[in-house]
Amino acid sequence: MDGYAAKRERMVADQIAARGIRDPRVLDAMRRVPREEFVRRLSRPNAYADHPLPIGSGQTISQPYIVALTVEAARVDEHSHVLDVGTGSGYAAAVLAEIVADVVSIERHAELADGAREVLARLGYSNVTVVTGDGTLGWPDAAPYDAIVVAAAAPRVPDPWLEQLKEGGRVVMPVGTPGFGQKLQRFTLGPERLPRVDDLGGVTFVPLIGTHGLGAPLFEEGDD
Ligand code: SAM
Repeated sequence: MDGYAAKRERMVADQIAARGIRDPRVLDAMRRVPREEFVRRLSRPNAYADHPLPIGSGQTISQPYIVALTVEAARVDEHSHVLDVGTGSGYAAAVLAEIVADVVSIERHAELADGAREVLARLGYSNVTVVTGDGTLGWPDAAPYDAIVVAAAAPRVPDPWLEQLKEGGRVVMPVGTPGFGQKLQRFTLGPERLPRVDDLGGVTFVPLIGTHGLGAPLFEEGDD
């Protein structure tokens, strides 16, 4: 076992299984995806640490436990067709791709989308399509989805996501305004397209910026 594989096993045992993630599909996926490939070279020694890491453009790769919690809450399986909003490094898309039939992953920063597309292709994830755009609009071309998983916080679920979800489909997203407390929540679309809400605990995410999210900040790291 190489050094990273040993760290990966410890991450799953100590950070993920120990905190109550039980779905064997999620635990196996987290054991398989080489997280060190999704972080900057300088961050590689810390790739399996129990916190987010910077990935450029003022963005982060999420803490491993939060990725596992989000994917487990989405209740996906090998038949699922999933929209991943906020590609970032591409790590969460890779974890999903280990479990589901296919993933469309959308990122508003073109340079992050390009980087994620490159690493996902190099690692052989042929069931992920990375697109650049405003994920608050969803991605109607590939709708409807069994699940929409989101890695950026907004005060409410964007309407296009509920329109692009199958009946019984799930949106898992951080709800709240950055700096004012956020909760990870699951919205399950029931009959008559009314969502049922489950709270999954407090979280801290970057803002979801777009038409149905928050306004763009005046300045972001990486802007000229
Ligand atoms: N899932 C990512 C990973 O595994 O690295 C973590 C991504 S980071 C916490 C959240 C990402 O959401 C950022 O890359 C940010 O640019 C992106 N984002 C924010 N608003 C967005 C929007 N409206 N559409 C698409 N991406 C958005």
